[in-house]
Amino acid sequence: AAVVAFREVGKSYGTEATVVHALRDVSVDIRRGEFTAIMGPSGSGKSTFMNVAAGLDDVTTGGVFLAGQPLHAMDDTARTILRRQHVGFVFQSFNLVPTLTVAENVLLPFELAGRSVTPQQRTWIDHLVHVLGLAARVDHKPAELSGGQQQRVAIARALASRPAIIFADEPTGNLDTRSSSEVLQLMRSAATEYGQTIAMVSHDPIAASFADRVLVLADGRVVADHGRMSPQQIS
Ligand code: ADP
Ligand code: ADP
Repeated sequence: AAVVAFREVGKSYGTEATVVHALRDVSVDIRRGEFTAIMGPSGSGKSTFMNVAAGLDDVTTGGVFLAGQPLHAMDDTARTILRRQHVGFVFQSFNLVPTLTVAENVLLPFELAGRSVTPQQRTWIDHLVHVLGLAARVDHKPAELSGGQQQRVAIARALASRPAIIFADEPTGNLDTRSSSEVLQLMRSAATEYGQTIAMVSHDPIAASFADRVLVLADGRVVADHGRMSPQQIS
């Protein structure tokens, strides 16, 4: 089943005189457990694709379904509720709360959603923290961690509630080569081992080579849809 389904989606900005078509007639399914890389030049519509898929932005035409629900037919409040239930985010800039500890940051999505952590979820989160090598850091603040560690905290936070999909926006953009490949390996195994669906926007052919699928956008259209590719094939 599709976690995200786009049906003939158009998204434009501006008024008639200055209209920009950020997405044009996009129809695509992102399936459960798939790790998809979204590539394309600057201005090709990658951020718009992600924002529309996550219900952060409304479509102009067509339909977008998230976990089977029609985002295009919902108001902002309903979309926000759906997003909090089903979506995790990872950003280039990590977006951790500086005043909170690692443990508090990881639990933040539960806090925001007003949900308590069940014993089963607690076990899962403890497992994640160990697997991500963060066990000795749970009481530290983000500023006391390296970039790679901070991104691992962000990934733990995104995985903690087992969302239907994680959107990762240039997640390795601020990391050195070694931390990058750790983070990519983690996302890869989250998809393979836990069936976690991940959509990652990236410019980096090496990052995209970790994905199961490479979608290429150009001028608001999906111009290529490949299976797993090597960095050489991508660049
Ligand atoms: P990418 O992420 O691939 O760089 P974007 O989705 O950010 O592409 O942008 C696609 C097109 O839509 C670009 O022409 C961009 O300038 C335009 N665009 C994006 N967001 C806005 C906005 N809020 N207002 C007006 N134009 C926008
Ligand atoms: P909330 O009211 O739950 O904070 P938001 O729409 O502000 O809902 O954001 C939900 C998540 O999406 C947050 O993690 C936020 O940092 C992220 N986010 C907000 N705006 C954008 C954006 N323009 N692009 C990508 N992610 C965003």
